[in-house]
Amino acid sequence: ATPLALIRGGGKAANRGILMRSGDAFQIFPDVDHIVLDKTGTITVGEPTVSEVVGLDSETKRASGELSSAELRSAESRAAKPRDDGEQSDPRDDEKSGVLATAASAESFSEHPLADAILECADERGVEYADPETFDSVTGKGVRATIDGDDVSVGKPDWLADEGVNLSEAGDDIERLQHRGLTVSGVVRDGDLIGLIGIGDEIKDDAAATVRRMTDAGITPVIITGDNERTAHAVADQVDINRVMADVLPDEKREEIGRLQDESHRVAMVGDGINDAPALTQADIGIAISAGTDIAIESADIVLMGDRLGGVMDAYEIGQESYRKTR
Ligand code: ADP
Ligand code: MG
Repeated sequence: ATPLALIRGGGKAANRGILMRSGDAFQIFPDVDHIVLDKTGTITVGEPTVSEVVGLDSETKRASGELSSAELRSAESRAAKPRDDGEQSDPRDDEKSGVLATAASAESFSEHPLADAILECADERGVEYADPETFDSVTGKGVRATIDGDDVSVGKPDWLADEGVNLSEAGDDIERLQHRGLTVSGVVRDGDLIGLIGIGDEIKDDAAATVRRMTDAGITPVIITGDNERTAHAVADQVDINRVMADVLPDEKREEIGRLQDESHRVAMVGDGINDAPALTQADIGIAISAGTDIAIESADIVLMGDRLGGVMDAYEIGQESYRKTR
């Protein structure tokens, strides 16, 4: 890096909340042809909340007369409306509370944002849960715990299926939730899937416009996530991204960036999480959203203050203005 690189464009960048941690980042940026964006916290605001809880306990279904899942859903939307005093409580509400209590207990030692969403929902609904007897987190997949002597797992449906859990009865519900862009956590107790939790995260206000600026500049935007293909596509569609890398384990994000580089692409990576640090280092330019973790910031060439995604293209344009003419 030349001292000039630190000066050129630097003032303009700082005014827009863009910090350079490497001197030549702006020089390299105009040559970038792919920008890989982490889904959670980069394209979305990074504050997941529970949108829907589905109870799958067959005993409750029997008690309520073997409703089809469509009937269950319409009954569910009626049940969601406030009840008059004195009206009998719906057995499905108890069932959902049971699903939430089990999930919240299993997730209570997890630091994952999805765990926070589940605990917050349980707290809001006044669902009580205790600490689990044992706890183990499985990176990029979910958590395992022991609760009242029962084995409990909460996490990705694909992972649960790999572990031998039968998901066939829940297939339609899983697809329906994922099509809405929700992340689905299956809740398994004693080997049986007892429920699903659909967790959503709002897309940033400026995400679609920023993606548009990328394609207008001839850059290919890519979404990368540990989340499943269907949810990833639902989110990608909302911001008009066509290239999706889903089901990517934390260690694999770096490899995916390397693969693009092997195809002679110049790649910028934008992320905010601990998981993203190796990928930020691997990319030609690593960009951290400063609302994220310290480790992501330390691994980045450019740090964006605040959580706006537009800063990525502001930085690109400053790089272009500062260096295009001299190359
Ligand atoms: P991301 O790329 O979105 O940061 P992660 O690699 O952290 O994703 O996790 C990938 C997927 O694994 C999540 O979408 C979720 O389905 C599942 N998962 C990971 N941790 C948990 C957890 N504590 N509880 C439930 N599901 C989890
Ligand atoms: Mg993440």
